[in-house]
Amino acid sequence: MRILVTGGAGFIGSHLIDRLMKAEHEVLCLDNFYTGDKSNIRQWVNHPNFELIRHDVTEPIRLEVDQIYHLACPASPVHYQFNPIKTVKTNVLGTINMLGLAKRVKARLLMASTSEVYGDPEVHPQPEEYWGKVNCTGIRSCYDEGKRISETLCFDYYREHQVDIRVARIFNTYGPRMLENDGRVVSNFIVQALRGIPLTVYGDGSQTRSFCYVWDLVEGLMRLMNGDQIGPINLGNPGEYTILQLAQIIQEMVNPDAELIHKPLPQDDPKQRQPDITKAKTYLAWEPTVPLLEGLKLTVEDFSKRFAVKVVGKDF
Ligand code: NAD
Ligand code: UDP
Repeated sequence: MRILVTGGAGFIGSHLIDRLMKAEHEVLCLDNFYTGDKSNIRQWVNHPNFELIRHDVTEPIRLEVDQIYHLACPASPVHYQFNPIKTVKTNVLGTINMLGLAKRVKARLLMASTSEVYGDPEVHPQPEEYWGKVNCTGIRSCYDEGKRISETLCFDYYREHQVDIRVARIFNTYGPRMLENDGRVVSNFIVQALRGIPLTVYGDGSQTRSFCYVWDLVEGLMRLMNGDQIGPINLGNPGEYTILQLAQIIQEMVNPDAELIHKPLPQDDPKQRQPDITKAKTYLAWEPTVPLLEGLKLTVEDFSKRFAVKVVGKDF
């Protein structure tokens, strides 16, 4: 198949492209390189089945494809809050453009939505039926509400134009290739521990998240894309940890001498988050297989390698 991956040079997109290329599909990677990095897809650049398109999804584009994985959107609060109006445009105009493309060429489109549609949830764990508790005027709204309208657009294109949609609600995912300055908690703690600087726990660290290793997530996305259920379907690892626990695990694993310090909790930071993955188990026969400790080890190895290359390249 010819498969378009928007946001393909990013963290999740590049791992997905690895799988699609290995399955011998023709892959078009579309990215504006806001938080993506060419090094994530360098391995495919000269491959005859691979094409790299520098493009912003807020502008329309004409392509011939069979499937679209629509992942283009900054995912870290630091990056999506840097230019919140652009984040809204990416979610509204970008999703309209990709749904328009899917409609025109009759492609199936999988939308990368998020657990953030549940906001600061009052139901725990979160099933797909829960409508969420989202602040529509806060600093996270550009992303949370952006993804909610992206889901709305998918379902309206489905009902009005019979576009073949799939909607995945992705929970916190981590792994190799996260940017050093990504700003999300797993990469922050690992980078801080490797540098021997204090790990920054926001608030008292009692807020929870559930962390999914990226290879598991990609498997879930592909099963959803190629199955019959349109979703929305939660994809995440139900293993729930407090942020303080996560800091202690990474401290212990990487650098027991690194300190933990507390910084103010950002506005509207969700207090708890854990996916109910009954639907993914039932309809996609999917559940995560990589335990947190194993996934963290692989992620630490990747950061260590990148740091070693940098040090060798720059200083020696
Ligand atoms: P990422 O920031 O690494 O990747 C996003 C990619 O999209 C980057 O390559 C970026 O350059 C590109 N991009 C951003 N705006 C664009 C635009 N206007 N036009 C073209 N390209 C653009 O993030 P990620 O973690 O890989 O997330 C991928 C998708 O999955 C996002 O849609 C995100 O909202 C969703 N998601 C991720 C998580 C997670 O924990 N990683 C959780 C929930 C949802
Ligand atoms: N967090 C933290 N220290 C950091 C980065 C994040 O304590 O250096 C906290 C953040 O306040 C939140 C959790 O970790 O409670 C997850 O944050 P992240 O930005 O990774 O994802 P999200 O909040 O979007 O789930």
